Amino acid sequence: MPFSKLMLSEKLQKTIKELGYTEPTPIQQRAIPQLRKGNDIIATSQTGTGKTASFVLPMLENIPESNKTKQGDARYRVDALILVSTRELALQIHNNIENYAKEFTHKSVPLYGGVKLGGQINQIRSGANIIVATTGRLLDHISNGTVNLSSVKMVIIDEADKLLEMGFIDDVREIIQKLPKKRISAMFSATFPPTIIKLAKSLLNNPTSIEIDPNNMATKKVKQIVHYIDEEQKAPLLSFLIGSKNWKQVLVFVNTKHQANRLVEQLELDGLKSSAIHGDKTQGARNKALELFKEGKIRVLVATDVVARGIDIINLPHVINFELPLKNEDYIHRIGRTGRAKRSGEALSLVCAKETEQLKELEKLVGKTLPTISTDGFSYNPTLQSSNKKIKKENKKENTKLKKAKELAQKMMNQDKKNEKKRKTTKRDYYKSPKNSRHF
Ligand code: AMP
Repeated sequence: MPFSKLMLSEKLQKTIKELGYTEPTPIQQRAIPQLRKGNDIIATSQTGTGKTASFVLPMLENIPESNKTKQGDARYRVDALILVSTRELALQIHNNIENYAKEFTHKSVPLYGGVKLGGQINQIRSGANIIVATTGRLLDHISNGTVNLSSVKMVIIDEADKLLEMGFIDDVREIIQKLPKKRISAMFSATFPPTIIKLAKSLLNNPTSIEIDPNNMATKKVKQIVHYIDEEQKAPLLSFLIGSKNWKQVLVFVNTKHQANRLVEQLELDGLKSSAIHGDKTQGARNKALELFKEGKIRVLVATDVVARGIDIINLPHVINFELPLKNEDYIHRIGRTGRAKRSGEALSLVCAKETEQLKELEKLVGKTLPTISTDGFSYNPTLQSSNKKIKKENKKENTKLKKAKELAQKMMNQDKKNEKKRKTTKRDYYKSPKNSRHF
């Protein structure tokens, strides 16, 4: 199906062509016509499938263009709202809007915490009609009177499951309350636990449900490989692979801020220009690192999951799982940073003995056994697994003992309470008795 069948104007089709998109992706084919017709949608959000354009393109057509002549409080009224979980995602979607809206006068502003309100307020005042916001910062602007949602015509909640997971769902509810009843709404989520279903019911009106390839399209274009390696050999192996294979742009995932910083130090010692992005870095530092990485001025970007989710780097060839993620579903998001849209990519997981059990679970998730590679001179000792198992077994024993001790203590406490109650009742009964009350 060509873009011309999606109820999009000639000028928007021209921009799409200039961006090199030849045909709409499946999510675009299904979501764009619904949103153009004014219907609400609820969709599974697959990473790297062109999801952003699936809601931004109809949005650009649906809402009135930016009006720079607004006066007074009207300057804070916006026409469209996109709620996201991270600052990076806010910036990325904002950048996409700028690309897609070349032929329009729409003006988007990303609103996220960690930077001063002033700059954002100026942008809103100067005619922004689309806001891409994280929930906390949006609520700050609302209570400040510097964002007014009463004229919103279209609202998108992206990665609803992530918003729930990060504890922002009450904020989302509060924001929904402030929207006008008449609006077009879309919700994207990878999973649908009861809270999300309840939220969807309060947000959406008779929505069309769109599910795109539950086997996850992104993973199909990504070549997934495993390299078994001893834990302490991971950093030297990573440097060796980047150097010997002459990889120019590598996104490396780790699980903690501390690990990210440590790995950057090690890579730098090996002469590889690297930078870390994680929650402890200032927004400025995170943006700068991402920018330098995109421009090819930094060879390795080491990231934790929260900040890297949703990052779109065109043509990123290599993603490395330095550690397997703490949550299995993050694996899909991580590897989805490569193999975006029509491009291919490679995701390599460095797996040490203690991670082999988790690897099996991940293989179930992606539905296949992943091929392995090895490198001469780098060791892997699977027997560490058994010692690891032994530790686990000992921990389990210890936990059982602890649990039993706790139960016993609880029992004793309950008994004490019962005895105490009995004592009090006996005393009360004694005082209550007319025979004894006259003494008091
Ligand atoms: P997203 O899933 O929205 O993050 O998009 C992933 C990547 O696909 C981005 O780099 C988009 O620019 C690109 N993209 C979106 N739609 C298309 C399309 N129809 N054809 C080719 N690339 C696309």
